[in-house]
Amino acid sequence: MTNETETTRRAALVTGSSRGIGRAVAQELARAGYDVCVNCSSEQGLPAARELADALAADCGVRTLAVAANVADAQEAATLVDAACQEFGRVDVLVNNAGITRDGLIARMKEEDFDAVVGVNLKGTFNCCKAVAQRMMKQRFGRIVNMSSVVGVAGNAGQANYAASKAGVIGLTKSLARELASRNVTANAVAPGFITTDMTAALSDKRREAMTERIAARRLGAPEDVAALVRFLASDEAGYITGQVICVDGGMSL
Ligand code: NAP
Repeated sequence: MTNETETTRRAALVTGSSRGIGRAVAQELARAGYDVCVNCSSEQGLPAARELADALAADCGVRTLAVAANVADAQEAATLVDAACQEFGRVDVLVNNAGITRDGLIARMKEEDFDAVVGVNLKGTFNCCKAVAQRMMKQRFGRIVNMSSVVGVAGNAGQANYAASKAGVIGLTKSLARELASRNVTANAVAPGFITTDMTAALSDKRREAMTERIAARRLGAPEDVAALVRFLASDEAGYITGQVICVDGGMSL
């Protein structure tokens, strides 16, 4: 590989990419030629993250890295971003995908379940954005893609914590877009509908059927449906799109 290729190749950090949507995003970006940092929350997920990173390096010929870091912790998030910068020389694309749910009706929702969900989904996104913002402004290029949800737009009974965190992500994204646009750094939110992953695996067949009824496309989404949009938002072609919330939901929110 020539030095020129080394310096012009773009690098992406995808949080929560050991499984589900994040994994599909990491695969999509590696196939598009990005160096990719795969992340999971703890040592427990590291074998899966490493396996993915190794497979992407072998299959796509890109540089990869696997890092366990809890994005809800500001120090761990900063260390994660530092590790990616050290390995690749830069981070051009940050995909804040790490997310959790702790569902329950508000009257019975435990305070720690509210804090945990907001801590990972919203504060984790803030932590990683803060850690990359200055670097992206300095390099006069950056693409931040934050994973929100249709639930953050419309709300959902039983998910007050999750909806609040995902609505917060939208406000954070729009503010970032205003702060960073003049430096050629975009920030957009993706709002998936019902996507088949571990997060939605626990739902009963009855609930799944009821959800499918509400989707115009009459099917649940696949992680790859979301990953394709993330790839576009990360590209040069998407440079004039910022501060937007784009649903990938098969028409569920129409
Ligand atoms: P998933 O299958 O449960 O995977 C979650 C990923 O996030 C895992 O890699 C997990 O790593 C990681 N993660 C969790 N907490 C973390 C933390 N504190 N620090 C770093 N990584 C952490 O979830 P998914 O369905 O793919 O969802 C991905 C994103 O899309 C989430 O933000 C979710 O809210 C959003 N979303 C999903 C749907 C859907 O229908 N699936 C719909 C709308 C929005 P570990 O393996 O270490 O736990």
